[in-house]
Amino acid sequence: AGAELVRVDELIGEALDRCRQQAGSKHITIASGGIDDLSVWGNRAQLAAALGNLVENAVNYSPPHTRVAIAGTRVPATSGDLVEIAVTDQGVGIPETDRERVFERFYRVDPARSRATGGTGLGLAIVKHVAASHGGEVQVWSAEGQGSTFTLRLPEPGSARERHLAARRKRDRLGGTLHEPA
Ligand code: ATP
Ligand code: MG
Repeated sequence: AGAELVRVDELIGEALDRCRQQAGSKHITIASGGIDDLSVWGNRAQLAAALGNLVENAVNYSPPHTRVAIAGTRVPATSGDLVEIAVTDQGVGIPETDRERVFERFYRVDPARSRATGGTGLGLAIVKHVAASHGGEVQVWSAEGQGSTFTLRLPEPGSARERHLAARRKRDRLGGTLHEPA
C-alpha cells in the first residue's frame, strides 16, 4: 500500500526531528553524509519509522557528549544494487550473545537499564520487518563499551533487483497465476 519514491535525506530529516530534543539535552552531535542523491522505493511512513528507530536508538543508548554518524552509500559489490544507510554510535554497544536477538519483538539487552529509557522493545523488530518487506535487510556490528553500527540496505530504485521486486509486486496485485521456479 502506498509505495512511492522516497528521498533518503527527507527520511533522515524526519528521523532527526524525532530525536533532536533528546540529542540536544545529552549533547550528542548527529552528522550525516552521502544521503543527498539517494532515494528508495517504498512506503514513506514505514521507512521513516525504521530509520527513526535506528537514530533514536543510537541517541538512547549512548552516553552524553558522543557522536552519531549517519552515512549513505551505494553498495554495488556483493549483493548488488543496494542503497545503504549506516547509523553509527559511540554508545554502550551490544554483547555478542544478544546481537541477533535484538531484532526479536520485546527483546531488550538490559531490561533494568532500558526501562529507564522507556520504549517497548519493538523498534528493531519493526526495522527488520520494514527492511524485509522492501526487499532489503538490516545488520548490526557492535563492540561492547565502544559503540554500534546498524546498516539498513534497500534496493536501489531502477536496479535489476528493484525492478524484479516491482514486477513481482505487480504480478501479486493482479492475483497472478505466474510462478517462477524456486
Ligand atoms: P522501542 O524501540 O520499542 O522504543 P527499544 O529501543 O528497547 O524500545 P529496540 O529498538 O527493538 O527496542 O531495541 C532492542 C534493544 O536493543 C534495546 O532495548 C537495547 O538494549 C538494544 N539496542 C538497540 N539499539 C542499540 C544501540 N544503538 N546501542 C546499544 N544497544 C542497542
Ligand atoms: Mg528502539
